[in-house]
Amino acid sequence: MKYFKRNETKKIKIGGLVIGGGSPVAVQSMTNTNTIDVKSTIRQIKKLENLGCEIIRVSLPDMESACKVSEIKKYIKIPLVADIHFDWRIAVEAIKRGIDKIRINPGNIGSKEKVKAVVKEAKAAKIPIRVGVNAGSLKAAHSLKDNLQKAAILAGAAIDNVEILESCGFDDIVVSLKASDIETTVEAYKIFASKRKYPLHLGITESGSLLSGNIKSAAGLGIMLYEGLGDTIRVSLTADPAEEVKSAFMLLRSLNIRNEGIEIISCPTCARTKIDLIKVVSDAEKAVEKIERAGKIIKPLKIALMGCIVNGPGEAKDADFGIAGGKDEGLLFEKGKIIGKVKKEDWVKTIIRFIDKEVKNGSCGIR
Ligand code: SF4
Repeated sequence: MKYFKRNETKKIKIGGLVIGGGSPVAVQSMTNTNTIDVKSTIRQIKKLENLGCEIIRVSLPDMESACKVSEIKKYIKIPLVADIHFDWRIAVEAIKRGIDKIRINPGNIGSKEKVKAVVKEAKAAKIPIRVGVNAGSLKAAHSLKDNLQKAAILAGAAIDNVEILESCGFDDIVVSLKASDIETTVEAYKIFASKRKYPLHLGITESGSLLSGNIKSAAGLGIMLYEGLGDTIRVSLTADPAEEVKSAFMLLRSLNIRNEGIEIISCPTCARTKIDLIKVVSDAEKAVEKIERAGKIIKPLKIALMGCIVNGPGEAKDADFGIAGGKDEGLLFEKGKIIGKVKKEDWVKTIIRFIDKEVKNGSCGIR
């Protein structure tokens, strides 16, 4: 973290992963398959693992889904989290089947006694619980127009529920306080963080489709991350969960919090541009995504694709490698120094060759 200090939180173990206490901010997502369809669920999780997803959550809407936990776990490497609403007995079953963490929404799980029953099992299994408070399920917040009042209610509900867990001698706790508007969410997280040191799962709920959800999440999560809050993030999107993972890494990379993977930077183009840079960048992104989906690159690599040779190499001098477009060819540059030329039809191939070279010489790790 170069520019800002992260909030101090307690270390929590989720399967083989540690979050909080200065650990890297973990990227997570959620499956959208039917959990009972074990084959499809595993296939989706493997795809997300290859993209670098570090925690995966599945919905367990019924007992049959809970019974699939042990089977799913056999085939995946990352920690598996169960999302439970309404029925505490499903949580208990998932714990018995080896789940790595439980997320409960205290707003709909029922009485304190039911929460305590889940805590007892989690404690015995030594797994954490995420108290996932959601503004939509808090009646007291429904009629309020003032976002700051809503935030206080959200944070208050989280504290109340954390206290139930603490009263059982349980402190393996992660907390999320989600609302669909940014102000309520940010303020609720800030209030909670000023009162407790449990790791925070950040997210903006119901944020929307690929474009609108990404922008809303980047704005909301960006504010909190910049203020040092957040130990794990999910960019919730109405889209393929793979997009959530890619966006989460892009967001963390853009804040200089994490920098693994390949970042393609490019200029906005202008009258100096003599090549179809929009197409080149789109083709390059597809090629890089193919490599990343195969689980190849994890260390940082910045590749620049610039529209002109006048300003391109200079504007992208911090890139590891880049191409700046002339009329029919481009100038190749490495760390700001010109090293050769490349024909316009060979740009993407050249990038792939550069990535392969970095992987082979060990300067890029393999996942
Ligand atoms: S790098 Fe060149 S083409 Fe791209 S915006 Fe800057 S001046 Fe224009």
